[in-house]
Amino acid sequence: MSFNTLGLSPALLKAIDKKGYSNPSPIQSQAIPLILDRKDVLASAQTGTGKTAAFTLPVLQILQKTAQKGKRRPIRALVLTPTRELAAQVHDNVRDYGEFLNLRSAVIFGGVNQNPQVSALRRGVDILIATPGRLLDLHTQGHLSLADLDILIFDEADRMLDMGFLRDIKRILHIVPEERQTLLFSATFSSDILRLAKDISHEPEWVETAPKNSTAKKVHQRFFFVDRSQKPAMLCQMIQDGNWSQVLVFTRTKHGANRLAQRMAKRGITAAAIHGNKSQSARTQALAKFKSNDIRVLVATDIAARGLDIPLLPHVINFELPNIAEDYVHRIGRTGRAGAAGEAISLFSHDEEPLVRKIEKLLGKRHKIEVKEGFEPSEEAPPPPADRSIHRGGGGGGRGGNNRNRRRRPNGNSGGGNGNGGGNRSRSRRSSSSRRQPQK
Ligand code: AMP
Repeated sequence: MSFNTLGLSPALLKAIDKKGYSNPSPIQSQAIPLILDRKDVLASAQTGTGKTAAFTLPVLQILQKTAQKGKRRPIRALVLTPTRELAAQVHDNVRDYGEFLNLRSAVIFGGVNQNPQVSALRRGVDILIATPGRLLDLHTQGHLSLADLDILIFDEADRMLDMGFLRDIKRILHIVPEERQTLLFSATFSSDILRLAKDISHEPEWVETAPKNSTAKKVHQRFFFVDRSQKPAMLCQMIQDGNWSQVLVFTRTKHGANRLAQRMAKRGITAAAIHGNKSQSARTQALAKFKSNDIRVLVATDIAARGLDIPLLPHVINFELPNIAEDYVHRIGRTGRAGAAGEAISLFSHDEEPLVRKIEKLLGKRHKIEVKEGFEPSEEAPPPPADRSIHRGGGGGGRGGNNRNRRRRPNGNSGGGNGNGGGNRSRSRRSSSSRRQPQK
């Protein structure tokens, strides 16, 4: 399959060529023709699959084709993202892919002065990328109108719900036309997402390039059992022994992220922490240093890390496991991007054992548990579910665990009520859910 067969215009093909992509990724080859055909699309896609281009390319083409002559430039496409970082990243993509088109874009998000954003909106914008809060804020102030919106895109919809944006989303649905094309991208499809998708789309087409809640195949996942107190030393040793350069480490808390970055710095490993308490400029700066290899380690909380675009990231570390198993999928989506192999390493202590099980349940897959030499846990190994194997003295190859007591799980598939919403569902109306939503 080549990009030439997808119905994209020469200007877009030129931009794709400039990016150096030779073939469309599976999500792109499936979603692009449907979107060009003006279908509503619900897509199950993780970060790293090329999903941004999958919606940006056809949306730009539609906007270019339907552009009105004259001065007025109403906002005709809106991309909603959960975080500032993802918004900025999508905007970068829009600019790259739209380089040879005559379209204007802007990005708006909170945490920064609104004036430059307002000025950009005043100049006229065809496609706007926004986080929900700032969008509503500027709308309330009368700086933007969505009355002419033609295409509404939700990027990382699951994360938007996790971050509590449902109420904002409902408010946004009140200020966009009911007649529109809706595209929703989500790494995971919980029952909440399915409900939202059902409310906002009209006879949608489903695009699924990987089984829901599955992790990218090229990510080598490893789980190490270790005492909590030993985690920092073990991680430092792994980074130093492996001579790893770009390491993204996830912690559960902002304090934890700061503390770990400081400890690493003391051991001579350059590191920076990014989380919600850091200013936007500090986060952008840390990310830039990480990308340019000026620092080896970026320690991040889930929310801060969302949407970071770091191509070919070799190592992702779960210093602590996330409470929400879906976050594990998002975290390790940072490695093995667009076909490159990566390694996702999780360090878990005794108290986190239930979280390992949650992840295994979500993925429908059992993981081998390793113990690193010199960091043997003082506590008893968690009573291994009989079907799991423990590999002692690991840290090297990580394979060949001694597979004792293997037992099949009766239902190896994902749990957690993830209705497989597969198949096309027809909707009788294109509605914007609850009309009774009170205004904030
Ligand atoms: P995304 O899933 O949108 O975050 O994209 C992940 C990465 O894949 C980004 O760095 C893109 O630039 C890259 N990418 C997107 N589409 C392609 C493609 N068709 N071929 C190669 N790389 C791609």
